[in-house]
Amino acid sequence: MPRLIPKPEEMPSSIFRYLVARAVVVLVLMALVAAAAVLGLLQARQDNAVLAELHLPRFRAAVYLSMDANAAAALSVRMSTAASQAERRTLLDRLAERHQAMEDHIAAMVDVGADAESITAVRRLRDSLMDGAIALSAIAQEEIALRAMDHKDAALLTRLGELEQRRRNLVLRQQDLSSELAGFVTALATEAGHRFDAQRDLASHTQLKAVAVVVACALAAMAAVAWMYVGLRRHVVDRILSLRVAMLNWRGGAVEVPRDGNDEITQMSDTLAELIGAVERRNQELEVMASTDVLTGLLNRRRFAERADEEIRRAQRYGAPLSLVVGDIDHFKAVNDGWGHDVGDLALQHVAAIWCGQLRDVDLSARMGGEEFVALLPETETTPAQLAAERMRTMIADLPLTTPGGSVLTLTISLGVATLLPGESLADLMRRADQAMYQAKSAGRNVVRLAS
Ligand code: GH3
Ligand code: MG
Ligand code: MG
Repeated sequence: MPRLIPKPEEMPSSIFRYLVARAVVVLVLMALVAAAAVLGLLQARQDNAVLAELHLPRFRAAVYLSMDANAAAALSVRMSTAASQAERRTLLDRLAERHQAMEDHIAAMVDVGADAESITAVRRLRDSLMDGAIALSAIAQEEIALRAMDHKDAALLTRLGELEQRRRNLVLRQQDLSSELAGFVTALATEAGHRFDAQRDLASHTQLKAVAVVVACALAAMAAVAWMYVGLRRHVVDRILSLRVAMLNWRGGAVEVPRDGNDEITQMSDTLAELIGAVERRNQELEVMASTDVLTGLLNRRRFAERADEEIRRAQRYGAPLSLVVGDIDHFKAVNDGWGHDVGDLALQHVAAIWCGQLRDVDLSARMGGEEFVALLPETETTPAQLAAERMRTMIADLPLTTPGGSVLTLTISLGVATLLPGESLADLMRRADQAMYQAKSAGRNVVRLAS
């Protein structure tokens, strides 16, 4: 009878639940890997953007500013030694260019948030330096003009002395301003450099952290996949394989079915075990049906022939004695005719019961068809076989059958006994026993005759 599919609450564990749970864990870990990778990349990108858009331009502007400040300081001092008006004008032009370049770099630094106080100080010093250079230029212009004159009177020499003194003072002041400006711009550049380095370290640290997180998550995901594989092997694949082995073994005769867990595979195992049990039981029933006589329960002719053959071969091999008794109920046709077929069947069962009741476990008894019975007696010489046949004959004659109608029916049987000759086959032995039985019939029935 087909079994109903069990309800989920009757099934504490399920392969599907098991697989889904493991798959969810693996998927969550995979998602974590992806999220960690994306977050790490985004953070690294942001750090690099800050580095490129803020710290690098500030550092570059600070370095250029520092270079321009040094150049401007040098130019403003060189102004004091200008030997011609042309050189003086050139120096003034180049100084103006540097002045403008410094302004551009200062503006760039202001854009990226440089320290306002330092910027104000730099602008002030730069302007003072420019003013000093212009004053130096004026002194140089006058000195060049005075030196170019033909007559050098006392007033002119005094004026030149005066100009010389002012120039020296201005140069000293310019040198002070230059070093002060150099100090400021160097500090600005150093600070920008430090910030740049700090941001670069932060960016590379973030990248390293992102890589470490991704590697850790990837390892965890790999471990989860391995865990899933191991679980799948142990909980599903191996059990299905052993079920398959059980099926193959069953085909080879074994009926051992593996049983563990409490899920769908266990149900398959249980169903297989049930199926095997049912088939085995059915096989046994069929075996019994194929080997016994339905009416009397004795062996039938076919099965008797098989087993008797084995016994005879064994007896021939070991030279052991073996005897065969053949019995045929006397005037059985008259029983059927007189009492009916059903009473005839009862008579056959009655005789069969006495027949096998007189035999040992090792003996084989069978109904050969009709009202003819045989008994094969291993390890039995002629005399004990004859005695057994005699016992059967007397028992049958002495134990009448009481019919359902209450009548008493006495039956008799004629028996032939043959003992196995060296090299003799079952067919020959049967033939001799039959002949002995016919002799018993001829002798008036209800007797035992020995085969020649
Ligand atoms: P004999 O003493 O010479 O053996 O005579 P008999 O009447 O016993 O011999 P016969 O061979 O003439 O008759 C055998 C009868 O057995 C014929 C048949 O109807 C009957 N018979 C055979 N098989 C069965 C059976 O299964 N049930 C019943 N009731 N009768 C059967
Ligand atoms: Mg008969
Ligand atoms: Mg007969």
